[in-house]
Amino acid sequence: MGNWYHYRTVEAAELKQRPEGEKVRLLGWIASKREHGGKIFLTLRDRSGYVQVVADKSLCDPAVFEQVSDISKESSVAVEGLVSQDPRAPRGAEVHVTDVAVVAKSEPWPITLSALKSPGFLYDMRHLTVRGTKTRATMKIRSELLNGAHRFFEENGYVWIQTPTFITSASEGGATLFQVEYFGDKAYLTQSAQLYEEAAICAFEKVYVIQPSFRSEKSRTRKHLTEFWHIEAEVAFATHDDIMEIEESLVHTMISAVTENCQGELSELQATRVESPELPFPRIPYDEALSIIEKKGFKIEWGDDFGAREEKAVSEEFEDPFFVTKYPVSARPFYQMPDPEDARLTLSSDMFAPRGFGEITSGGQRIHEYDMLVKRLKEEGLDPKDYQWYVELRRFGMPPHSGFGLGLERTVRWILGLSHIRGAAMFPRTPDRIYP
Ligand code: ATP
Ligand code: MG
Repeated sequence: MGNWYHYRTVEAAELKQRPEGEKVRLLGWIASKREHGGKIFLTLRDRSGYVQVVADKSLCDPAVFEQVSDISKESSVAVEGLVSQDPRAPRGAEVHVTDVAVVAKSEPWPITLSALKSPGFLYDMRHLTVRGTKTRATMKIRSELLNGAHRFFEENGYVWIQTPTFITSASEGGATLFQVEYFGDKAYLTQSAQLYEEAAICAFEKVYVIQPSFRSEKSRTRKHLTEFWHIEAEVAFATHDDIMEIEESLVHTMISAVTENCQGELSELQATRVESPELPFPRIPYDEALSIIEKKGFKIEWGDDFGAREEKAVSEEFEDPFFVTKYPVSARPFYQMPDPEDARLTLSSDMFAPRGFGEITSGGQRIHEYDMLVKRLKEEGLDPKDYQWYVELRRFGMPPHSGFGLGLERTVRWILGLSHIRGAAMFPRTPDRIYP
């Protein structure tokens, strides 16, 4: 076997710019293969995209033609050939083979047409199906959303921090904590980096994290994973209004990164309508959202948080993202700052994706005063001792501050219109799935 490391002279996506008849060398995988009228048509996939490779029996060296006809789907290959600028070819240019070698052979590909009808099987085979056009495009878009997020934070003076996965107390309620054994003690997997970010703002003012959060969600909905990627930020001296502006600008930048760099992927997914939503996003108070929900026939008490059904009902009324603001104290965690104008409410909001998709962020102002935080912990039946370091921050110069968390997979699901959130993760984790 040859050494293929420096074999390639061109990538699939560059071929349209190459002169007719140029000899090129490609590396990639055989995404598809068909024979017709004495010709074999291969689709070669590489990092950059796809290109059609043609072996013509009447023009090709017979030994090369033979080799091409033996290649199995999803083998990795090295191809040498001549560029042909043919507007009838699927991607404008194609390559006429002059030589070929199999770098690593694939056994018969198990993802048959009938397998495509079984989502369970396709997820069992995710280590292979990740190469499929749709999954590949989705993951490329996900990557670009993250690039956009990093760019936003970098351009706005944030420090990227990393916080622990093993923790000892809940930030988002005990019911969804995953417990792990920690050298004879109990520990949990993190639900959010927020509490640690709050410590870090006194060093850096503006911080963000992009890392997994874990939730033992018993509700098996189409929008819950047990492990998801969480984009969270915390900002010193920021109000609740400031944080909503930051959230909407972040989402705008993330989607712009996709529309600028992923037009090919968007058209593979027939999602070419994706565009960055206009700023600012509408803001509606909790009470207004509640009346939309009630008008649609759902029964919900004032003060309750919205479930998946209620979120769907409200967000169906919108074509673009929006905020629901001023949640009641009873619908928010202990750390949320009460509204000084109405003690029943908090300075908090959720960003909702439109068209039924529902919540994608939660944010607001945090309590920075010691006594108020201790009081709220006790009201929630929590022991301030379990939050000792977090509470103590309030004795050492903690200024007013606000922050939020955004779910990456929820965002992918919304912009690509996926029916289930698992399609937004390369190797999704749900109550029923921890393999592969
Ligand atoms: P929900 O009520 O929709 O279950 P939450 O209010 O419990 O979500 P937060 O604690 O506010 O979630 O987390 C911030 C963001 O993280 C959410 O707005 C959402 O985008 C994302 N997120 C939360 N839980 C999950 C999950 N189980 N799977 C995927 N994303 C999640
Ligand atoms: Mg929330």
